[in-house]
Amino acid sequence: MKTSGEKIVLTRKATLCLPNHVYIVTKKVKKSKKVYKKHGVLQKVVLYNRSSCENNVGIRKERKNSMDIANIEKKVLEAIDRRAEDICAWGEKLFATPELGYKEFETSRIIQEELKRLGIDCSKGHAVTGVKGVLKGKGNFNVAVLGELDAVVCKAHPAANGETGAVHACGHHAQMAAMLGVAAGLADSGVMQELAGNVVFLATPAEEYIDLDYRRGLQQEGKIQCFGGKQQLIQEGMFQDVDAAMMVHAQPDTPQAAVYVHGSSLGFVEKQITFRGRAAHASEPYKGVNALNAAALAILGMHANRERFREEDKIRVHPIITKGGDVVNSVPDEVCMDSYVRGATMEAIKKASEDTDRAIQGAAQMVGAEVEIQTVPGYAPLKQNYLLGEIFKEVAGLFVDQDQIYSGIDMVGSTDIGDLSHILPCIQPSVGGFTGELHSKEFQVADPYTAYVLPAKMMALTVVRLLTEDGRVIREIKAGTEKEFRQ
Ligand SMILES: [Zn+2]
Ligand SMILES: [Zn+2]
Repeated sequence: MKTSGEKIVLTRKATLCLPNHVYIVTKKVKKSKKVYKKHGVLQKVVLYNRSSCENNVGIRKERKNSMDIANIEKKVLEAIDRRAEDICAWGEKLFATPELGYKEFETSRIIQEELKRLGIDCSKGHAVTGVKGVLKGKGNFNVAVLGELDAVVCKAHPAANGETGAVHACGHHAQMAAMLGVAAGLADSGVMQELAGNVVFLATPAEEYIDLDYRRGLQQEGKIQCFGGKQQLIQEGMFQDVDAAMMVHAQPDTPQAAVYVHGSSLGFVEKQITFRGRAAHASEPYKGVNALNAAALAILGMHANRERFREEDKIRVHPIITKGGDVVNSVPDEVCMDSYVRGATMEAIKKASEDTDRAIQGAAQMVGAEVEIQTVPGYAPLKQNYLLGEIFKEVAGLFVDQDQIYSGIDMVGSTDIGDLSHILPCIQPSVGGFTGELHSKEFQVADPYTAYVLPAKMMALTVVRLLTEDGRVIREIKAGTEKEFRQ
C-alpha cells in the first residue's frame, strides 16, 4: 500500500481482498464509508481508519460487519497472547515425547487431552493415531489447521529417545503447539459464532516416510493402506468436507522471525530392490553369482543416468544398500537396496524412475543375477494455493519484518501435504524460530515464542480472514480464482 497526500492507493499486494484493482480514496480516510473509484466505477467501501490502513490491517470491501473483523482479529490475538505460556509449554511437552509414524499414541493422547481442556470435541484413531477436533462456526465452510504428530530418527541428537532414536528434529512438535495455539485463540476468544464455518484441527500421523517395515506390517494387518499419514487420512475420507487446509513447518537454521511462502517441494517414488544370485564359498566365486556385484554396477548405472536429468526437473536418486550379504566367506546371494527417485513433477519422476529401473535391470543382467524391483508411491510435489499463500503472507506482514518474508523459495525434501495439495487448496509456509538443519543433531528451537506462538497467530488470523465476510475469501479460493490473482 502506498500513501500519497489524501490519496491511498491499495495495490493488489497490499490486500488480496481487493484483487486486481487499484482503489483510490477520493475523500479523507476516517472511520466512515468512503467513495472509491475502481476502474471508473464508484464504489462504496469502508476503511477502519488511516492508521490501521497503514498497518495493512483489515482492509475490506464494504460489509456491514467489516469493523467487526478487526475486533475479531484483536480478540483472537489477545487470547493467544494470554495462552502464550501454555502454547510454549505444549511445544516443550510434545518435544519430550517423540514417537515415530503410526506409533504416536502418547502424542495423540496429549493432543486429545489439550483439545478437550479447550472445550473442543475430538475424535481419535484416524489413520491409527490421528486426532480430529472441531470448533463449530455459524456457516458450512470447513477450514483445517494441521499439525504433524510424528518424529524422525536421529540417534545422535541429545534429545533422542534412547530406545527408538526418535526425536523432533523436524520440528513437528512446534506445528502441533501452533495448531493448539490456534485452537486456544479461537476457542477462548469466543469468536466462532462470527465465522462463516467450522475450524477443524487435525493432528496427522506419519509424515516422515521411514520405518517402512513397520508400515508394511500395518498394511498386512489391514490397518492402513498408505505409508503417509495424510494419504491415509485422504483414503479414510477425512478431508472430504474440508474446503482449505493450512499448516506451518520449521525453516531450518532460521532463528529469527521469518516466513517462507509459495515454495514447492519435490515428489518421489520409493524403490525396494532385491538382487538374487547364487551362494558359493568365497574362495570359489566362479561357482556362484555375486548379487553384490550386481548392486555395485546398479549404483554406477544410476550415477551414469544423472547426465540425462534436466536441471528444472530437480531429479534426485539416492540409493542405499540395506543388505550387502550374509557372511564374508560366502558369495552374497541376496543383496537389498532402497532408493527414492525424487523430482519436481510427476512426469519427470516417472521418466527418471524408468531410467533407474533400466540401470538396475542392466546391472543384474551383466552378472547373471535376478532382480526384483518394487516401486511404491511416495509423495506428490507440493502445490501451494497461491491466494491462500498470499493471505498468509499478508497476515505474516503484521508480525514479521518485510525483509524476512520470502516468496517462492522451494523447500527441499518431500511431504505428504503434497498429496493433499492436489485435491484441495493447501499451504505449508515455513517459519523461523529454529537453529540447525532439519533431521540433524543440531536442530533446536531457538526461540519458543517465534517457533510456537507466532505461527499460531498467523494461522489464526488467516482462518479469520477466510471465514469472515460470510466466507467471501474461502469462496473465492474454492472457485479457483487464484489464476486471476496471478495476472
Ligand atoms: Zn522431516
Ligand atoms: Zn517435517
